[in-house]
Amino acid sequence: MKKNIIAIMLLLVITFGGLCLSGCTTTGSEEGELKIYTSFYPIYDLTKKVVGNSAEVINLVPVGEDAHHYELTPKQMVGLETADLIIINGLDMEHWADDLSANILSKILVASYNIAAIDIEIELGSTREDPHTWTSIKNAKIMMENIKNEVVSLNSDNAQVYENNYAKYAILFDGLDYQYEQAVTSFTSTTFIVSHKAFGYIARDYGLTQMAIGGLETDGEADPATVADIIDFINDNNITTVFYQESINSSIAVAIANETGASVDMLSTVQGLSKAQIDAGEDYLSIMAQNLVALIKALS
Ligand SMILES: [Zn+2]
Repeated sequence: MKKNIIAIMLLLVITFGGLCLSGCTTTGSEEGELKIYTSFYPIYDLTKKVVGNSAEVINLVPVGEDAHHYELTPKQMVGLETADLIIINGLDMEHWADDLSANILSKILVASYNIAAIDIEIELGSTREDPHTWTSIKNAKIMMENIKNEVVSLNSDNAQVYENNYAKYAILFDGLDYQYEQAVTSFTSTTFIVSHKAFGYIARDYGLTQMAIGGLETDGEADPATVADIIDFINDNNITTVFYQESINSSIAVAIANETGASVDMLSTVQGLSKAQIDAGEDYLSIMAQNLVALIKALS
C-alpha cells in the first residue's frame, strides 16, 4: 500500500512537475518566472507558443526593422545582462551576437542548432549557410522543440506547461506542413521568383526552386545579369508572379513584373509582424498559411 502511495506521488511529480520536493529555486523577474529575450519575430513567436504567459518574453528587433542589419541599443545590451535566457536564430542572422560579454554569451540558445543548413554560393568558390531556417515549417517545429527543451531544463516547475504547449502547436505545424505537401502535388510549375533569397528551406522541403533577384542579405543592388536572366526565365516559362516581401523595397520586383506582364504578390519571411497584425491574431502559422495560398495561386 505504502509503495502504491509513493508510486502515485512520483507520478504526480512527473505529471505536474510542481511539487518542489527539494525546494524551489526561482529565477527571473517574477517569482519562478523566466525572463527571456528573443532576437526577432519568428523566434519570439515560437518561444511564446512554448511558454505562453508563464515567462516574460522580450523581443529585440522592433516591428519594421530588418533583422539582418539590426544593432542592439545600449538599453537592450543592459537588459540582456539581466536575462535568464537569450534565444537567437543563429547562422549569422544576428550580427550583434558577434561581440557580447561572456556573461551574455553564456545565456544564449541558438534555436537552429541541430538543423541541417543549406550551403549557398555567395561568390565563386565561397559558400555561406542560409540563415533563413525558420521559413521552413519543419525547421520551425524543430526550433520550437529546441526552445521547449531549454526552458524545461531551466524551469522544471513549469515543464508540463511547456510540454503541453509544444505538443499542441507541434500538431498544428504538422498539419500545415501536410497541407503544403498536398498542394505541391498539383503545381504545374515548381520555380518561384522572389526578391530576397530567403525561401531556400521551403523550396527544399517541397521540391521547389527559388529564383532570387537579390542575395541572402537584404542589402546591395540587384545584379543586372541576374535581372536579365530572370526576365528571360519568366518569358520562356510563362511565370505569372514575382514575389516581394514585407519591409523590403519592392521596386525591382515591380519593374520585372511590368517588363514581363507578370503580377507581383507577397511571400512573407514572417520576419516582422506589425502590432495591428499581432492584435488581429496573426502569427507564424497564419502567415505561413497565407504564403501557401500565394504559392498555390502562382504555381498551380
Ligand atoms: Zn533575410
